[in-house]
Amino acid sequence: MKKIGFIGLGVMGKNMASNILSAGYELTVYDVIEANVEDMVSKGALAGSSPADVASKSEVVFTSLPNSAIVEAVVLGENGVLSGCEEGTIIVDLSSITPKSIRKIHKICSDKNVEVVDAPVSGGAAGAEKGTLTIMIGGSKEVVEKITHVLSSIGSKINHVGEIGAGDTVKAVNNLLLGANMVAVAEALVLGKKAGLLADTMYDIISKSSGGSYALNAKYDNYISKGNFDPGFMIDLQYKDLQLAIDTAKDLQVPLVTGNMAQQMFEAARAEGFGKEDISAVIKVFEKWADVEVRSEK
Ligand code: NAD
Repeated sequence: MKKIGFIGLGVMGKNMASNILSAGYELTVYDVIEANVEDMVSKGALAGSSPADVASKSEVVFTSLPNSAIVEAVVLGENGVLSGCEEGTIIVDLSSITPKSIRKIHKICSDKNVEVVDAPVSGGAAGAEKGTLTIMIGGSKEVVEKITHVLSSIGSKINHVGEIGAGDTVKAVNNLLLGANMVAVAEALVLGKKAGLLADTMYDIISKSSGGSYALNAKYDNYISKGNFDPGFMIDLQYKDLQLAIDTAKDLQVPLVTGNMAQQMFEAARAEGFGKEDISAVIKVFEKWADVEVRSEK
């Protein structure tokens, strides 16, 4: 399978699409933002005029889109991917969406002999750029085997975790932890700063101690310490991912105490106007309350 389609060329999509292109595949792309398409065309991709047009030129179609409603519209809607697919085409959704939504898409597409797998990713913009993402796939084994060669160009850890929806379920659990850890890091660093500690000292010690975490390591040096909150991973998307976990927990009657609290902190950050900034910007809410700033002293 050499003809690949890619829809959604944002923070994650543009890097993943570039890696697929560099691996030698023939790539057709689409995004509602024209400049994102032009950028990929300058690297050698072909521009599709709609999701249906991309699908008609592809054996495998990837989507990397913001949420369930948009993925459903892009795949199932008018001029959507499904309307342009031939039988046997494989749709691979790399977005983080609800397991319920991907199962609905899978059911409708299966009836037309079009295959669907959920393949959400972890590793952020940096992992997407380096091609080292962790990919968690839900879907049939036969389909996963057919697409593993393309997935190898965007990820280094490719895990088939179960039937359709299983990938999105793992992703919801992972991002529940990321969101909760990010809020805890922000709260703790602000406390330390208010109590008179240097930000860099806290980072140097805690990153090598039992309080360390991915959230601290990934978000102190490049974001918090510099006061640079360009995404990265947007607060609006983290908020949505916590909702995926909260909805799943509600369906199963599992209390989600920390997840709901973390989501409220991201809600506060959105209310302050930080929704399009990186998740580390949640620290600005704690900083305002405590009247300190956690920035590098170097
Ligand atoms: P983004 O907002 O940067 O990119 C989304 C892209 O989709 C944009 O270019 C947008 O123009 C395009 N788009 C929106 N609606 C469209 C439509 N109807 N048709 C075609 N294109 C459309 O988001 P992102 O950070 O790249 O995230 C994409 C997905 O990956 C999300 O589901 C997110 O939760 C997930 N994710 C993000 C990260 C991260 O660190 N940013 C990490 C893992 C997973």
